[in-house]
Amino acid sequence: MIVNKDEEQVCSICFFKIKKPSQKKMLDCDGNHCFHQKCIWKWIVQKNTCPMCRQNVCKYPSFGCDYNEHFHYINALSKRQHIK
Ligand SMILES: [Zn+2]
Ligand SMILES: [Zn+2]
Repeated sequence: MIVNKDEEQVCSICFFKIKKPSQKKMLDCDGNHCFHQKCIWKWIVQKNTCPMCRQNVCKYPSFGCDYNEHFHYINALSKRQHIK
């Protein structure tokens, strides 16, 4: 039986597995809860709390800022304006 060394985590927003580490986003809440980047960005744009523990998290969290995160954030912002 092959055991994946990377713990497979399930995103609590979409309930799909987070397969790649690059898709994963860890919040700076006490539980260090993890979600897909694109899922949590959409969420965090609307309410800056952790979906799991409802703890306040930073809108611009400290977890390494690379192009992906910024892109998702902008993307989420523009979608939000569309919904209104
Ligand atoms: Zn997800
Ligand atoms: Zn949490």
